[in-house]
Amino acid sequence: MRISQGFFPTVKEVPADAVIASHRLMLRAGLMRPLGAGIYSFYPLGFRVMKKAMEIIREEMDAIGGQEFLLPALSPIELWEETDRVKAFGDTMFHIKNRPLVLAPTHEEVITSIARSHVKSYKELPQIWYQIQTKFRNEPRPKSGVLRGRQFTMKDAYSLDASWEGLDASYALHEQAYRNIYTRCGLNFFIVGASSGAMGGTGSQEFMVESDAGEDTVALCDGCGYAANVEIAASGAPAAVRSDRGSSIEEVSTPGIKTIDEVSAYLKADLAHCAKSLVYIANGKPAIIFLMGNDQLNETKIQAVLGADARPAHPEELAALTGADAGSIGPIGLKADFTIIADKRLEHADDMVCGANKNDFHITHVDFDRDVKVEAFHDLRVVEDGEPCPKCGTALRIVKGIEVGHIFKLGTKYSASMKATFLDEHGKDNPIIMGSYGIGVERIIACHIEQHHDEFGIKWQKSIAPFDVHLILVNANSEEVVQKSESLYAALRAKKIDVLFDDRATVSPGFKFKDADLLGMPLQIIVGEKNLKNNQIELKDRNTGERRLVPAEDAMAEIEKFLAT
Ligand code: ATP
Ligand code: MG
Repeated sequence: MRISQGFFPTVKEVPADAVIASHRLMLRAGLMRPLGAGIYSFYPLGFRVMKKAMEIIREEMDAIGGQEFLLPALSPIELWEETDRVKAFGDTMFHIKNRPLVLAPTHEEVITSIARSHVKSYKELPQIWYQIQTKFRNEPRPKSGVLRGRQFTMKDAYSLDASWEGLDASYALHEQAYRNIYTRCGLNFFIVGASSGAMGGTGSQEFMVESDAGEDTVALCDGCGYAANVEIAASGAPAAVRSDRGSSIEEVSTPGIKTIDEVSAYLKADLAHCAKSLVYIANGKPAIIFLMGNDQLNETKIQAVLGADARPAHPEELAALTGADAGSIGPIGLKADFTIIADKRLEHADDMVCGANKNDFHITHVDFDRDVKVEAFHDLRVVEDGEPCPKCGTALRIVKGIEVGHIFKLGTKYSASMKATFLDEHGKDNPIIMGSYGIGVERIIACHIEQHHDEFGIKWQKSIAPFDVHLILVNANSEEVVQKSESLYAALRAKKIDVLFDDRATVSPGFKFKDADLLGMPLQIIVGEKNLKNNQIELKDRNTGERRLVPAEDAMAEIEKFLAT
């Protein structure tokens, strides 16, 4: 492709709402432009990258026996009523005004309806069906460019099995295919075990890319690969060590002392020997929760223990239930009947400082084995950066992540409600056991840029670069330079090497170099007057920045060598 004849709307400045690197660079390099909030037009250069990523996805899906469909984006609303997902999606689903149709946000219902009309017997199973197609979701806050759009491209795959072991096998195939896809797309990724949320089912994993632009917060271990959303992440933070001095409890005056840090300083007690008390109301009943020192209570974990309706007690409820305000609450002398639970770190703790349920007083030497009727010890705390990994002990990092893919064991959620059944070996009717597997194509591209760029532009890795090489004709007024560039261009094309040719006669060399760095092809081939006088051509590796001069007659061999490695 000649830049002089092509459409390459590069720009220097981007709107202020483009804050993350991939969003800015996709705009600057002219890969796409917004058409409306969360709606993007992919321009030719951007679409070339999309096609490369989609081809890698196809190859890996076909390799595990996937069969590609192209399903309609418009979908009869009755299908979604069968599974009650009109309600589940709510405002996220786009509805068509003048027909009972919706724009599909995903395709479980459509796939299940196809399975229902064709699959009759276990002999026809297993199947892996997939498509690469546009999805529509009325995201309330489309942002970060194509990372969260209202219309986006998803590879969605579905497995149909006759047994749960079959589902496990199909799921494992997808997990491996996904690893291959992200690796081939040049992404440094990690895998997070996740709850299957609104989808329902029996297990799922998210494929994530570390990036400050991410919306998820994850505890990640570089030692063993342990990764978990902070909502559920655990750590090997040490439990209390008993002193076994057997000291009796003692009430001490702590005037005006409220926070755990103040208590620790005032009583010269180590933070690990101070217990924080929190009062919650769950199912109409008060619960008191103890944590060590400054440990933070994890809302997801406490809800798992106390139920989804659990909420912090209001300040006015505290005094009535405990006799004190926040800051002086503790396990001994509570006024009401409490459910008492504590974080695992406090199991067997003694010599603890707790509130006295009397403003401005605390109790020392509390022994959780002796003095407190703890119903159960649970992991209730928020994991902090640098704490030991629960599996291998390496320091955990708390990082932001972008979800690039998700694999689910759906089980029979959709097949049961939509009555997609098959006859097993014994002639018995069973719902098909399903899995669902999604990849966001635009997210692969944006994440690739997040991980491969510098201040000057994109650094495409070879596998999804829009062009393999960027040929730069430096001095358009030099007959030799023009001739050499043109002959190289023709030779590259003859070898089926994708070449972007900056043959512009009206643009300065400096401007061409800037564009080449911005557009980010892996190899720049620079044909300039000075070097050509010495029969030399310059090659620049965009990823490493390495430049070298090669004899003109060796250029093609060097380029081929670069692309082959
Ligand atoms: P998120 O939590 O980020 O909203 P999701 O859980 O809704 O994602 P899935 O329903 O599992 O996502 O969809 C499969 C894949 O589609 C995701 O892993 C992601 O890569 C991509 N995806 C989902 N929503 C969007 C969107 N609004 N824009 C771009 N890609 C998306
Ligand atoms: Mg979503």
